Parts: sequence; structure tokens; C-alpha cells
Amino acid sequence: MATDSSAHAHNPLKVLQHNASGEEIHAKKPPVDESTLRHKDLVRGPFWQKIPAYANIDEKTFLDHSWQAKHSITKVSKLLETVQGLASAAFMADAEEGFKHAPMSVRVSPYMLSLIDWNDPYADPIRTQFLPMGSRLFADHPKLDLDSLHEQKDAPVPGLTHRYTDKALFLPLDTCPVYCRFCTRSYAVGIDTEEVEKVNLKANEERWKQAYAYIRTRPELEDIVISGGDAYQLRAQQLEDIGMSLLDMPNVRRMRFATKGPAVMPQKILTDDAWVDALTRVVEKGRKLHKEVVLHTHFNHPNEITGITEDAMNKLFERGIFVRNQSVLQRGVNDAPETMLLLVKRLGHVNVHPYYVYVHDLVKGVEDLRTSVDTAIYLEKHVRGSTAGFNTPVFVVDAPGGGGKRDAHSYEYYDRETGISVYQAPSVKPGEFFLYFDPLHQLSTHVQRRWQDPAEQQVMVDDALAKAKARLR
Ligand code: SF4
Repeated sequence: MATDSSAHAHNPLKVLQHNASGEEIHAKKPPVDESTLRHKDLVRGPFWQKIPAYANIDEKTFLDHSWQAKHSITKVSKLLETVQGLASAAFMADAEEGFKHAPMSVRVSPYMLSLIDWNDPYADPIRTQFLPMGSRLFADHPKLDLDSLHEQKDAPVPGLTHRYTDKALFLPLDTCPVYCRFCTRSYAVGIDTEEVEKVNLKANEERWKQAYAYIRTRPELEDIVISGGDAYQLRAQQLEDIGMSLLDMPNVRRMRFATKGPAVMPQKILTDDAWVDALTRVVEKGRKLHKEVVLHTHFNHPNEITGITEDAMNKLFERGIFVRNQSVLQRGVNDAPETMLLLVKRLGHVNVHPYYVYVHDLVKGVEDLRTSVDTAIYLEKHVRGSTAGFNTPVFVVDAPGGGGKRDAHSYEYYDRETGISVYQAPSVKPGEFFLYFDPLHQLSTHVQRRWQDPAEQQVMVDDALAKAKARLR
């Protein structure tokens, strides 16, 4: 019987390589292409000093979460002043026009502004997510709705959505460390804009008590997502009070604090000891009670993961705090296979579990950011197999109208020509059909014209529903 080494000597798949000492080694694969290791190259050093307004800001100051929060930009005029000299006058005028039509108010951290490539701001994926351009806006799809997921309709008390049997979404407040253009919750999050008057979900302990009372009386509720707004904005004491109140309920088995913070202001994890200690105490108490408490975050592009992120995620990892990521698929941000692959690998590298990639919700005012269900399916095919299965995100459509998250592939019917996909959610709302609509700008001009006519819209919808029903088992 041949030994392993003699068999290898005759194996044509073997490639001869040399190790660092010059010794011959045999390997089944050729040397790896260095570009596939890019996920390990994280930006470090004072990258923010290239912004004139931050040229004299030292590392200690830049890592201070209070400095980041205090210097976050909340007025368009301040934003334009800060990037003055970096972008052309035409770009500035375009951004000013964009904000006039945006459903979200402005808030951008110095950290985010520093990560934008100001040599080419139009193409930059971080600029795309935070700064709307008047010249890039498209008309909304006629089926768009401000609260497309019907979170308010499924809310038994204000700020608590109970849709899935065993899970509830708790919104203790309505502010965030930044405001993202694509926010699903633009009906409530942030301050009013010229376009939208927001639903009030301010931090209010009386409202929170109503939510606790409801959760306590529903034995089927085991899993609570604490979102917002954003859990980063809760004071340390508030975070701990909410966490401990929920852990005290025998029915609650799992909790997730949702925050975009690690992606937009990792400094807080490094320097806000009170907040991180409060989170740690809730996680540790949960562990003693055999209940899971994790952090859910929201990275969308590999450029958002820097050396500062790595240090922050290492700190959470050392404390035993598990982090999962939910990305939003956006045109020009992460809709290319190589970008999504890099994001997934880089998340894994910093111990963040890539959990979901959402097909962009039907949100008003950001039609330029939406992609199609077909794009999600194409990306998923490229990502699967690039890393371990548990680190491969599930690509989902959050079914408009309250169907919940459906695997993008699981449509009953998908008409790529009209852009209508039809989903069912038997364990959420049995018997109902949920429709998702691809953005008009990805459809043919003929079909775009049909969408302008209400009678034709109905014909297309009826046709898709009839075909979906015909395929049911
Ligand atoms: S951080 Fe989350 S909730 Fe806040 S604006 Fe961004 S997407 Fe919306």
C-alpha cells in the first residue's frame, strides 16, 4: 500500500512550493492570490487628519466618544463648511439640494466623514449612504410607503411591534448616533424634515413600562430586540435598567441590543466605560440565567471596518459579548460581488457574525439606493462557499406589509420583467401574500411606462398574484 508521501509524488494536482527555509513542500492548491487576503488590511493611523477641519486632532481626541458625539454634524450648513475645499462647489450645491428632499435628518460622525474618499465623493460608498445628492434622486416607485413594514400597525403599545409569535421589537427611543438615508424607520427616527413629520418615540420610562407589562403577559414572547433609534443612544443606566427588567421576566430567553454604533462610532466601545460596563453586566447576568444577550450591528461596506473597529470588536470579544451584523443591500454601495465578499470576510476577521443582508426596504426618497431581488440572488451565489457556512449571511426580503423576513429565493412567483416578487409567510400571517417591487430604474422603459398608469399597475399585480396562487401546493 502506498504511503501518503509516495502517493503525493505522483499526484498531478500537487504543486511544488518552498517554505521560508527554502525546503520543498507539497500543497494541493497553488499559492493564494494576495488580493484574496485584502480583508485583513485595515486602515490604521491618523486617516482623519486629511480633513482640514480635523488636521490638528490627535489620536486620543479622535478616539474619545464624547468628542465624536459633540462634533457630529447635524446641520447641512456645518457639513458643507467642514468639507469645504475637499469637494467642488457643484458637489456642495448638489448635496444641499439632496437634503431638501430627504426623509431623514442629518447626523454624521467625524469618523464617517473621514472615511469618505473626497477625491471621488460621488462614487464613495459611505457618502452614498449618508449624503443625498439632488442630481441622483429618482422618483419613488408608486407602491412605496413610509412605514413599509407596517411596524406601527403591528404595535400593541407605542414603540413595541409584536409580529412574529415569539419575538418583539422594542423601540425605547428615536435617536441614533448617525442618520442613514435608507432608514426603514424614517417614519419615526430623527427629527422632522422638510419631507416628513415623525411619529414621536422619545425615551420615556412610562412608555417603556407599558411595553414591559405587555411582554410580561405574553408567555409566547421569548426574544426581544431592543432597537430604536439606536441602543447606543441609551444612557448606561437606561441600558442596564432595560436589560435587567427584561431578564427578570421568566418568559424572556433571548435579547439583542441593536446598534449601528460599532460601524459609525466604534470609539464609544473603546472609551465609554460606563456604557460598555453596563452592557457587560447585562450579558453576564443573562449568562448566569442561561439567557442569551447579544449585540446586533449594521456594517454595509468593508471600508467601514478599520483598525479602530478591530480594537473595539476585540474588546467586546474579550468580554464575551457576541456581535451579529445585518447589512442593507444598496446600489453603488455593496451590490458588486467583490464588495460583498470583502465585507463578509472582513466581518468574520473582526469576529462579527454576518447574519443577514436585507434587500432594501420600500423606503420613500431613496429609490436610487434600491436594487432588485435578482441582484440579491446573484450576490448570494457568489458569497456562498467563500467562507464557513455559519459566517455566510442569509439574503432576505423583509416582506412589505408585515410578512417578516423571507429568504430572497423563497418567492412563490417572481416576474423579472415587471419587477414584482410574491412571498408568503405561513408561520407569520398564514394565507396572505406579500409583494416586493424592484426599482423602476432597473426595468425596461416600456414597463416603467406601465407603472405610471394605475390601471396597468393593477393588471401587473393581479397577474403576479394569479401566477403565485397557481403554483401553490
Ligand atoms: S442607525 Fe439604524 S435606525 Fe438609525 S437612522 Fe441608521 S438605519 Fe435608521
